[in-house]
Amino acid sequence: MTKEMTCIVCPNGCLMRIEQEGDKIEVFDAICKRGIEFAKNELTNPTRSITTTVATKFEDYPLLSVKTSGEIPKDKIFEAMKKINSTIVKKRVKVDDVVIKNLFGTDVVATSDMTLDVKTQRLID
Ligand code: SF4
Repeated sequence: MTKEMTCIVCPNGCLMRIEQEGDKIEVFDAICKRGIEFAKNELTNPTRSITTTVATKFEDYPLLSVKTSGEIPKDKIFEAMKKINSTIVKKRVKVDDVVIKNLFGTDVVATSDMTLDVKTQRLID
C-alpha cells in the first residue's frame, strides 16, 4: 500500500511517500530522520502533545496555560481534554509545576507563573 503523509515535526512540512507491506514500512522524500520516525510512529502508535488552558479558582487568574510534559496516544486526546476541562486549579503554581499527574502516562504542567502579579511583578501570596 502506498500513501502520502505530511511531516509535522518542523515547519518544512515535508510531503512523504510511504510504502507499507504488513509490518514493513518504508518512508521516502523525508529530508531528515525525524520525518521517518514520525511517519513510522503515525502508522503504528500515533501520539500528540497538548497545549491548552485549565480553569482556576482565582478571579485575577481565571485560566492557566498548560501543556503535557510528554506525548499521549492520539486516540486518548478526547478523554484527556475531558479531564483537563474538568480540572480546577486550587493553589497558585509556577512554570513546570504539575497540575494533573499521570494523564495517560504524562503529566500536565503549568506554562505560566500564577505567583507573579503581571502588572506589578510582585509575588502573590
Ligand atoms: S522530515 Fe525532517 S525536515 Fe522534513 S518536515 Fe519532518 S522534521 Fe522537518
